[in-house]
Amino acid sequence: MREDAAAKGRRLLTEGRLVVERVDGRIIEATCRGDTAAVYRLGFGREAEWWCECPALGRCSHLVALQLVVAHKARDGGWAPLEDPTPRPPPAARSRGRGVSPP
Ligand SMILES: [Zn+2]
Repeated sequence: MREDAAAKGRRLLTEGRLVVERVDGRIIEATCRGDTAAVYRLGFGREAEWWCECPALGRCSHLVALQLVVAHKARDGGWAPLEDPTPRPPPAARSRGRGVSPP
């Protein structure tokens, strides 16, 4: 079964892989340990951009994990969620009906 970035990011978070190291104003710095045990640095920068040093293109699972924990700030005007450049995955067979949809 293929795991998309959103699902993987959620898993990385629940497995405790993500460590938010610094939050200073609008700046966020974090690390996330991927499945290969490599630790990537990621965060939200002064240019109002999400970044991650991993080789994945676009929104990687590490950023998904980080955005899951900083999403609360977005409604207060703090963080801007990353635009998702990837099309929505087709509804998979494993829709468990939790109805968790992004705002
Ligand atoms: Zn990454």
